[in-house]
Amino acid sequence: MRHWLEAGSGELAAFMAETEEPAWRAEQFRCWLHQKRTGDFAAMKNLPETLRLRLAEAGRLRVLDERDSRSSADGLTRKLLFAAPGEALVECVLIIEKRRSRRTACLSCMAGCPLGCRFCATGSGGFVRNLSGGEMVEQAYRLDALAHGTGKSGISHVVFMGMGEPLLNLDAVLAAIDRLADPDGLGLSGRRITLSTAGVPEGVARLAESGRNFRLALSLHAPDQKLREWLMPAACRWPLAEVMAAVDRFAAAASRDVTYEYCLIDGVNSSPAQAGKLARLLSGRRGKVNIIPLNPVPGNEFRPPPPASTHRFQATLKAAGIPCTVRMEKGSEIGAACGQLRAGAEAPVRE
Ligand code: SAH
Ligand code: SF4
Repeated sequence: MRHWLEAGSGELAAFMAETEEPAWRAEQFRCWLHQKRTGDFAAMKNLPETLRLRLAEAGRLRVLDERDSRSSADGLTRKLLFAAPGEALVECVLIIEKRRSRRTACLSCMAGCPLGCRFCATGSGGFVRNLSGGEMVEQAYRLDALAHGTGKSGISHVVFMGMGEPLLNLDAVLAAIDRLADPDGLGLSGRRITLSTAGVPEGVARLAESGRNFRLALSLHAPDQKLREWLMPAACRWPLAEVMAAVDRFAAAASRDVTYEYCLIDGVNSSPAQAGKLARLLSGRRGKVNIIPLNPVPGNEFRPPPPASTHRFQATLKAAGIPCTVRMEKGSEIGAACGQLRAGAEAPVRE
């Protein structure tokens, strides 16, 4: 059965024509879907009951079934776990930053991930399936309702940093981005949407060609191919020089600086020599490094470095003229790192 959040204007118009309704009903229905974002046909009072019934027979407004929700002690990080059709478990997170007055929705584009990065709970949990664009938009709308529920405005930013690799499900991700950017819905501008990738060069090239200008984050995590391949086994297919060249082309085409994400792991990629090597890799490139001290995942041996090492790593980059911030993981006590809530749901005894 179709997911109505995925239907474009042409499909809605065709449905109204088939059901012998006036064309303007499509606009009314679209408004319920994307402006009011209701999950209930019965609430669509300006549509005749017969049409509401036919719409309900032909498609669904919601396909994600909430299975768990957690809130950090300060209430600023909220995580939802959904079952998508086929019992695919999917997570998404709302992060409220009062200081910057941001409400960010962190979305998943897959249930699981096939890339198997060693430090990532999603990667170690395996791959179930790609999500549809509608399933991604629905996550954003559910988090938007949650943000409104906290008494303030809805979401202001979207990041594709949940489960899955966006560039391996690119058509659906681009469809979701177009929907999220549509002024008839959330109307988010490109600078408020960030796609994070493990660095699939062909996918980055397609992004550059797509003419869209959202923000791109590259998950680098290592300053050289050898260590990168060890941490991210899928990277053996993507030579670092090719990845960097593709990202440079995207940055030029979209006129956007790129963020280089570097998940800092004690004794693995956190030495001053590795910071120096990273600085040399990025010298001459615009953009900044976002250092993320590892969020420990139950069942693997990796740990974040002590704060002093993190600051030394950052200081080495800064001394080399590379802009650099340290992101303190939000919501680690509720398992907010990518894939952890699903891991907990599948193995509840492994606390
Ligand atoms: N697949 C994409 C997007 C989802 S992961 C990617 O890899 O970029 C989003 C970010 O979370 C990535 O930078 C990823 O490396 C990081 N991440 C994964 N597991 C983590 C952990 N345990 N601690 C800190 N960051 C983690
Ligand atoms: Fe997949 Fe990203 Fe996790 Fe790697 S870090 S396994 S690419 S979700």
